[in-house]
Amino acid sequence: VVQKPVPLFFGFPDGVFHYVCAECDARCCRGQGFGGSLTREMGFLFQEYPGLATMTHMRQRDLMDVATPAGSCFFLRGDNLCQIEVEHGRSRKPGVCLVFPFNRFVRIGNTIVVTPHILCPLRVQVPARPGVYTGTHAALEATIRESEMLDEKYVKWYLHSATLPPKETSESVLKQHAQFRETCAAAIGNSRFIDVLTASGANVKELSAFLNRTATLMHWSQPQTSTKRDGIDDVLIALAQPMLVEWTSSPRPRALRALALGERLIRTLFTVQIDPPRPQAIYSVLHQSIAVLSLLSYGDERTTNAPRKRKAPFGNSELVFASFIAQRDMKSQGVFSALEKAFKHLPSPADRTVLTHHLAQVVR
Ligand code: SF4
Repeated sequence: VVQKPVPLFFGFPDGVFHYVCAECDARCCRGQGFGGSLTREMGFLFQEYPGLATMTHMRQRDLMDVATPAGSCFFLRGDNLCQIEVEHGRSRKPGVCLVFPFNRFVRIGNTIVVTPHILCPLRVQVPARPGVYTGTHAALEATIRESEMLDEKYVKWYLHSATLPPKETSESVLKQHAQFRETCAAAIGNSRFIDVLTASGANVKELSAFLNRTATLMHWSQPQTSTKRDGIDDVLIALAQPMLVEWTSSPRPRALRALALGERLIRTLFTVQIDPPRPQAIYSVLHQSIAVLSLLSYGDERTTNAPRKRKAPFGNSELVFASFIAQRDMKSQGVFSALEKAFKHLPSPADRTVLTHHLAQVVR
C-alpha cells in the first residue's frame, strides 16, 4: 500500500536553530533509550545484535522500545560515533536517532507540528540562515521522511489529534501558527519579545496590567519598560512557538499571556547569572513552569475544570489553609482573585510558588 506523505509544519523559524554533533558529548546517546519500527530498523538490529532483545520494554503494534544503560548507549563509541552507522550505514540507524533533536511531534488535524527536543544544546543563530544551519526546514523534512517515523500508518496509529481551543478548527490553529512563525522570523535580531506578542494580537495595556499584577502576586521582579532588546529576546523569540505548541488547547489570548509571563519569569530568575542564559536553560525553565504559567495565564478568568481531589501534601497549616481557599474560589471568582485571597496567609514567595505548582496540578 502506498503511504501518502503526511503534511509537516515546523514550529520555529527556518534556519534559526543550529546543533553541531562534533562539538557535543553526544547527550542524546546517554541513557535515553531508543526505539523504532520492527519492519524498518528494529528487526534488523535484533538480528545483528541478539543481546538487545534482553532490554526491550515496550511494544505497540510495529514499534519496539529498548532501554540503554545510564551514561552511554550500547552503540556509542569512544569517539562519539554510532557503531550502527559505522558498521551498517546511516540508513540502519533507529529513526528516532536520525531525526533527533527535531523529534517532538504534535498532531493538529492531519498536520504534524515538529518542534525541537531541548536535551540537545541547540544554539539560536541571529540572523537565521536557512540552508546553512542544521535547523533548516527542508533538510529536516528530508530526514524525517527518510526515517519513515511519520508515515501515514504510524501517524494514524500513534499520534492522536491535539485538543483545540473552543471554536477553533485545525485550519484556523495552523493559520495562526503560520502567521506567528512569520512574525517571529521577522523579529529575531530586530525586535523585543514583547513586540512579537503585541504584533500577534496581545493588547499592550492589558498585558502590562496583567504582568504587573502577577509580579506583585508572585513577588517576581516588576516588568521593565526598557525599549532595548537583548540576547534573551532572541532566544525567547526562537522558542516561543515550541512553547505555544505546548499550549495548543489554550485560547490564543491566554497562550500569549502565558508567553509574556514566561519572559517575566526568565528575567526575574536569570538576574543572578553572570553570563546570558543558554537556550537550553531558558527552555527548561519554561518547560518546568508550564503548569504554573498556564494557571496564572487565566488572570481574572475562572477555571473551567473542577479541582481534582488531592490531599495537600505540605505538612504546614498555613499552606494547607491557603490551598483550601484557592481551590474553593478559583472556579467561582477567577484565578487572580482566589490567589490574592489565599496568598494573604502566605508571605513567603517560595511558599506562593509551591502552592501555585500544587494548584496547577489540581485544576489540570
Ligand atoms: S543531536 Fe544534539 S545532543 Fe545529540 S550529539 Fe548532536 S548536538 Fe549532541
